[in-house]
Amino acid sequence: MNLAFISHPSCREHRMGAHHPECPERLYAIQDRLIAAGLEMLLTHYDAPAASIEQLARAHDRAYIQMIHDAAPQAEDVLTWIDGDTALNKHSLAAALHAAGAAILGVDLVMSERHHAAFCAIRPPGHHAGRAKGSGFCIFNNVAIGALHALDAHGLERVAIIDFDVHHGDGTEEIISGDERILLCSSFQHPFYPGSGADTQAPNIINLPLPRLTDGAAYKAAVETAWLPRLDDFAPQLILISAGFDGHIEDDMAHFNLREADYGWITREIHQLARRHSQERVVSCLEGGYVLSALGRCISTHIDELIGHA
Ligand SMILES: [Zn+2]
Repeated sequence: MNLAFISHPSCREHRMGAHHPECPERLYAIQDRLIAAGLEMLLTHYDAPAASIEQLARAHDRAYIQMIHDAAPQAEDVLTWIDGDTALNKHSLAAALHAAGAAILGVDLVMSERHHAAFCAIRPPGHHAGRAKGSGFCIFNNVAIGALHALDAHGLERVAIIDFDVHHGDGTEEIISGDERILLCSSFQHPFYPGSGADTQAPNIINLPLPRLTDGAAYKAAVETAWLPRLDDFAPQLILISAGFDGHIEDDMAHFNLREADYGWITREIHQLARRHSQERVVSCLEGGYVLSALGRCISTHIDELIGHA
């Protein structure tokens, strides 16, 4: 079955300055690589709707949502910084609303059985966005908004979020901590930005803080021990992925030594979990990954495994 590929033109207009690593070229690199890999014909493209205030408010304080609306500049070439490395330009509010809306559409599409899986090619990313703060290139927490939509609008009882971005998804953790309808599995370099996650106690969160230079063999061993048995016990009815590829060995944003095949492996494990428990339903949301060539190759492998042909 074809994979739903969800994006929006505004996600290519959101720009945080000429040299910011979280740049529109990332989405072009992904598109180019999917065409080159022959995967394009296996995708069905969707334009993401904008998330509504009510959908955002499942994860964020209304005052924060209003602050983002108020902060968005009206003029071209103006940036409003909401933290040291996260800014809004004229198109960022639309991009953030449609990025969150992509996660929601992805959930709707897999719940309606029109697709077994969806990939959201979105920016800004989301996993550092907390209830009342944007940071680390993130404005709204796309994956948390998608998970809470699945629970509240579709009546699911158990949703898993798997976050393999190299940075700890501190925003997702803050939003879903203690909500036992959601099991969050997060792996990240530690100690490293944003510094959190190593001493998390919430019973619905399984964090894997891993040292710099973690390679594929060490990563697999950690995931097989800490995550897979718990995920099988939890039996999620839907799996969402915070899909960050900045742990790739060529990505100098961080210091993991993962390769395309390792991202293929974790995606294959997730797909098999979904086959066992969630009628294959997976919604993957783009987070990090900043070296364009490596990002394109990783996404190509990721999507190939989500489709399930590999
Ligand atoms: Zn990251």
